[in-house]
Formats: sequence, structure tokens, C-alpha cells
Amino acid sequence: MAAPRAGLGAGAGAAAGVPGRQGSSGVEVVFPSEPAPPAPLCPHGPTLLFVKVNQGKEETRRFYACSACRDRKDCNFFQWEDEKLSGARLAAREAHNRKCQPPLSRTQCAERYLKFIELPLSQRKFCQRCQQLLLPDDWEKHHEHRVVGDISITQLRRPSQLLYPLENKKTNAQYLFADRSCQFLVDLLPTLGFTRVLCVGTPRLHELIRLKASDDKKSNIKSLLLDIDFRYSQFYMEDSFCHYNMFNHHFFDGKAALEVCRTFLQEDKGEGVIMVTDPPFGGLVEPLAVTFKKLIAMWKEGQSEGSSHKELPIFWIFPYFFESRIRQFFPSFCMLDYQRFHRTFICVDEAMKYGCMLEVDYDNHALYKHGKTGRKQSPVRIFTNIPPNKIILPSEEGYRFCPLCQRYISLENQHCEHCNSCTSKDGRKWNHCFFCKKCVKPSWIHCSICGHCALPDHSCGGPKDGCFICGELDHKRSTCPKITTSKKVNSVLRA
Ligand code: SAH
Ligand code: ZN
Ligand code: ZN
Ligand code: ZN
Ligand code: ZN
Repeated sequence: MAAPRAGLGAGAGAAAGVPGRQGSSGVEVVFPSEPAPPAPLCPHGPTLLFVKVNQGKEETRRFYACSACRDRKDCNFFQWEDEKLSGARLAAREAHNRKCQPPLSRTQCAERYLKFIELPLSQRKFCQRCQQLLLPDDWEKHHEHRVVGDISITQLRRPSQLLYPLENKKTNAQYLFADRSCQFLVDLLPTLGFTRVLCVGTPRLHELIRLKASDDKKSNIKSLLLDIDFRYSQFYMEDSFCHYNMFNHHFFDGKAALEVCRTFLQEDKGEGVIMVTDPPFGGLVEPLAVTFKKLIAMWKEGQSEGSSHKELPIFWIFPYFFESRIRQFFPSFCMLDYQRFHRTFICVDEAMKYGCMLEVDYDNHALYKHGKTGRKQSPVRIFTNIPPNKIILPSEEGYRFCPLCQRYISLENQHCEHCNSCTSKDGRKWNHCFFCKKCVKPSWIHCSICGHCALPDHSCGGPKDGCFICGELDHKRSTCPKITTSKKVNSVLRA
């Protein structure tokens, strides 16, 4: 029998004709109640336990697969839960895991960086093919590659512009913020009183915080980046970057890196720190929630007695249609109405041609501005446990305060007296439907056949162009947040 494919939210389509909701088949993550045997390791740290679900029924045989990679091409780890491996196979696996680690240790990377910045400008080279800063001894090996020279200190401070964003859609699609969108956060964090930012999967935010701190002596804000993209280790010392997997809370450089993170969180008895994270959307909410709870616990250990009731402030950047999933794990979180997270669009072909990155703000990019839908709003929002009335959204962009909801809302969002809340999620004015007893998107009308609101041209009785699982039109199956929760199993992966 073919082994089930594990992969976070990824994969080939389910069998055609399988109806949405109950009937869909997929793979789900299982978090066994303690004490559980330790999960076997893949090159990305401890694997997760999965179960295949068919027509709503769990199969009995569970298996371990990679936590981070949604594509078997990236990590093909597979082991049945009850499978016993021979000593030889275990040894081969260990050797494979070792072989997959980055060739240089974190300390070696930091030493290379210090050597690199000592070089005269004309000797500072970067290999685009290998995505690597070169020291003179390395030149020979890369002489046939495309190498850019004269890497300035300014360029070194902006590694996210020097490195190609990882393109692999399934495992590690990097969606970098446009500088302008990132600047909103960079300005907001100090006004909220934060002096330290734990950046989990936000390399560009990390970079802009540090740039601001070095340009503006008044801003003494510090940042620590945790990210799975180890190319960043070339640009940061050990105290500002840890190679990290956020789906299993794994520090690739072991205890020393874990301690860097702990020290950062616990400095000043944990005062003044915020965690900001922008995980890949295809990833599962539950493993992320488990990880974030571990980071919260680490921060809590450093708290003084009196402040043990406090929560670690968090900004979790994620699409609005995950709201109910996130609140399931973090009930105190609310979703802010800030909608201008634009991502840079990098044309790699052009970048190859000109030898530099050409970044285009989605907002300015003709394709997106006048694209199919004509709407340029991003679905990405901030979820946070900071009281929303403290987070002032820019009035120049049309945001205003709703005294009833005690939060800032976008221009067209309106307070619905029936729902007693400003109900729009996507920046348009939503309308209240008295049959559904809730506000719905303006393009929807109530369908008496389906018994709920839908697009006027929907086909009654089934989801059509929208998400395969829930029928919503604003996302695809791979990122569907509406997953059935069974007794043992909480998160769905589609296989
Ligand atoms: N908007 C952010 C980038 C978000 S893209 C910014 O501009 O700073 C998602 C980020 O998460 C990428 O940097 C990617 O390398 C990282 N990432 C993806 N999978 C990860 C994992 N399993 N563990 C840690 N980081 C991961
Ligand atoms: Zn793996
Ligand atoms: Zn090279
Ligand atoms: Zn309403
Ligand atoms: Zn309705």
C-alpha cells in the first residue's frame, strides 16, 4: 500500500466528487496526551504524528512525518507509529540528518561575518547562485557563478534584499512585507512601549527594527529573529538570529540557541518584550499554537511573582479567515482591522538580468492594482492580545475609532446594531441578514434553497469555485481554517 502523504495543508487534490465538509479526506496532526514516546527526528527536528482521515473517519495506523515541509521533495521522512527500525536504519537516518544540516556552525558563520566586514569594499562579494557571502579564499570555487561585488554595509544590513526570497510554494514561501507596511509596525511597537521584539518568521521586520535602532540613537529597541531560513545566519551574530523551526519549537543549534532566546525573553523580568510572528499560511494553526505556548511559558518563567497574571504580548499576522481557529487556541486574541500588509513582489527573472532585486509594492504594481478582482486589500490581519483601543490605526488611511467596540476600524466598516459590532472583515461594508442573524459580505444574498447567504450565481447545494472544504470564496482548500475537530485530533492537513 502506498504510504499516506503528510504535508501541512499541501498536496494533490482529493478525489474528485468528494463533497465538502464531512466527506473530505485528509491528514490530521495528533498531539498524543503525555506521556508519549519521543517523536523520531528528521533534519528539521522532532517530527509530528499524523493520522489519515477518510470520510470523517480516522484510520487506526498513525505515522510520523516532517513538521516543517509540506512537500515530500523537501523532506521525505516517513515512519509508521508502531514501526520498529533496525539499528542500521536508525544509524543511516542519523547520518542523513547530520548531512542535511548547514555546513557551517552558527559560530563559524558569525566569525565569517566579522571577517567579511573587515574587507575593503572591492573585496566584499556575494554569490547569487549559492546565496553566500564570499571570503577571498572562496572566490575560486565560485568563479563560474554569478557573483556581485562591492557589497556595502547598507546592503549587509538588508539581507532580505540581497537574498532571493525562497520560492518553494509549499514549504517556505517567503512573503516579505513591503517596506511601507513593515514601517507601520516598526513605528507602532515603540509607541506601545516595547523595547524588545522577538521576530518569529519576520526577517524583514527584524532588519528594519535594527536599521532604525542604528540610525536613530533614541530608539534602543532590540530584536531577535527566529527563522528556518539559515541563509540569515551569515548576516547576524548569535544573539540576533537563531535557526529555528516554529512548527516544533526546534532550535537547530541546540541549547546555546535556546538560551539566547530564553535570555532575550526574560531580560528585565520579561518587561517590554513582544513576539511578532508571520507564519506560512499553509501551516497548521495547532502546531503553531503549541509552539507559541512554549515561548509564552519560557517568558513566564522569568516573571516576578506579582506579575504572573500578565500575558506575553503577541502580534500574530495571519489571514482574517483564520480568526475562529486562532481564537480557539487564544481566546483573548482579537483581530485588528489594519488591512495594509502589502507584500513585495520580486521578479526573479528581472533580478537575474539586472543582478539586483527589483521590488514592487503590490499596491503600485499594475497587475495587482487592476487585477481580476479590482480589489487590492490584503487578507492579512494582526491578531493580538493587546487591548485594541491602545492600537491607534492611521487616520490618514481612513481608520477611525468605534467607541462601542473600543477599537479602530477601517473606513467602510460600520457598526451593526443587531450584531453589536463592526462586522466587516475585508474592508467593505457588510450587510446584516436577518435570516442568518449575522452580517454577510455585500456581494451575497440570502438563498432560501441553501438556507444561508451566498453569491447570487452560486449553484444551490454545493460549493463551486470557492474553498473545497467550506465553500468560502476567499481562500482555497489548502488554507481552509474550517476544519472539523474530532475527539483526539484537532488539526487538519490535507493529503
Ligand atoms: N512578512 C515577513 C515574512 C513572512 S514569510 C517579513 O516581511 O518579515 C514567512 C517566514 O517564515 C519566512 O521568513 C520563512 O523563512 C519563515 N518560515 C517558514 N517556515 C518556517 C518554520 N517551519 N519555522 C520557522 N520559520 C519558518
Ligand atoms: Zn523534515
Ligand atoms: Zn557560488
Ligand atoms: Zn449584523
Ligand atoms: Zn442570509
